[in-house]
Amino acid sequence: MTETFDRVVVGGGIVGLATARALHARHPESSIAVVEKEREVGSHQTGHNSGVVHSGVYYRPGSLKARLCRDGREALLAFVAQEGIATRRVGKIIVASRNEERAGLDELLRRARANGVESVRRLSAKELEERLPGLVGVGGLDVPSAAIVDYAEVTRRLARRLTEGGGVVHTGWKLARAERTPDGWHLTAGERAIRARAVVNCAGLESDLVARAMGADPPVAIVPFRGDYYPLSERMRGRVPCLVYPVPDPGLPFLGVHLTPTIGGKLLAGPNAALALAREGYRPGAWDLREIARLLAFRGSVGLARSYGPLAAREWLRSWSPAAYLDAIRVLWPDVTRADLGRRTSGVRAQAVRRDGSLEDDFVFVRGSRVLHVLNAPSPAATASFAIAERVADASETLEDPVRGQP
Ligand SMILES: Cc1cc2nc3c(=O)[nH]c(=O)nc-3n(C[C@H](O)[C@H](O)[C@H](O)COP(=O)(O)OP(=O)(O)OC[C@H]3O[C@@H](n4cnc5c(N)ncnc54)[C@H](O)[C@@H]3O)c2cc1C
Repeated sequence: MTETFDRVVVGGGIVGLATARALHARHPESSIAVVEKEREVGSHQTGHNSGVVHSGVYYRPGSLKARLCRDGREALLAFVAQEGIATRRVGKIIVASRNEERAGLDELLRRARANGVESVRRLSAKELEERLPGLVGVGGLDVPSAAIVDYAEVTRRLARRLTEGGGVVHTGWKLARAERTPDGWHLTAGERAIRARAVVNCAGLESDLVARAMGADPPVAIVPFRGDYYPLSERMRGRVPCLVYPVPDPGLPFLGVHLTPTIGGKLLAGPNAALALAREGYRPGAWDLREIARLLAFRGSVGLARSYGPLAAREWLRSWSPAAYLDAIRVLWPDVTRADLGRRTSGVRAQAVRRDGSLEDDFVFVRGSRVLHVLNAPSPAATASFAIAERVADASETLEDPVRGQP
């Protein structure tokens, strides 16, 4: 049987479900479905991240990340409060470990102020030591507004509210083929089929593949970057009540190995950023021949290898060797030992890479014929998801327009 919906969102992560919520709120009379290939929503990036509600310190003022992080954070926290979902404003300290990183702190402070982040201030080495005995740095930034939440829980709640409101969430529904029809799309997953008047692609790690399956020629390719986490011992849990981050490498869209208390009561160290050889490569040794072939065929791979090669080697080493990983943690907290590290877990980021091999630093949305593709929604997209959703909903208003809805 073929079901028919006005709008179909592909991907049941936080971006897909927040988008479905926004579309449904604007057009309650229209039918809407989310299709998700896994048995549960929030199974990939949304369920394997640091759980940080970012404040907006890092992002280039004026960028989509800066604007949507600020707006999305507010909307997310309002939803979380309304729904009674656990969240804690634990605050964040960004630490410069070397004098050369002081300029990085200055730039972050400038960005924080330009992005309207409240109450950010400099910390001296002495203040760092007083705030968190054991933490070592030459200076820092205090970001009291940073919070934590369980994004998978938020996503499950979004799914529940959508279905209660008359929307449909199909899990175990992997989009395999998409055909353009005169009035929309015919989407198939094995034996099952759906007709949609308009589609939004929020497929995360597979978003470029879904875009290609829908006839687009995306300007970027998704390259998976695995981030490994180690839970730290109880001894450390008692000592680190807030988020502790290094000054990030300004050339990379990743934030560096940090310490994160979680809503579930753990303290995580991580994530690093190792190039993965499988889209859902959660283990260091995971590989997928199709992914390797895609990487080899991708024009941007040469540029990526040239600019990212030395860092890739360091991050791979951190993936394979707990001792190398420990070095990254010890930059912040020198007395952490191997005995403090628990069992490793991982998440995989969907990072868009341009055809020249450079890493795309901002969110990317690409419009097609009766379809909108969300093609780069890495961190802070969980924080920003409700604002991304509004932006996608704005753009979706004209998707069915016979003139403006064409590519
Ligand atoms: C290690 C790590 C740490 C992070 N830390 C943070 C943080 O602290 N704060 C923050 O704001 N952000 C963080 N992020 C980023 C954040 O997790 C992501 O930006 C966000 O979860 C993206 O949501 P999404 O819905 O786009 O993707 P996903 O959650 O990956 O969802 C995409 C969904 O699409 C489904 N799908 C794919 N292909 C198909 C198909 N063909 N048919 C049907 N379904 C399909 C997948 O199964 C998946 O469920 C982190 C990410 C990682 C990996």
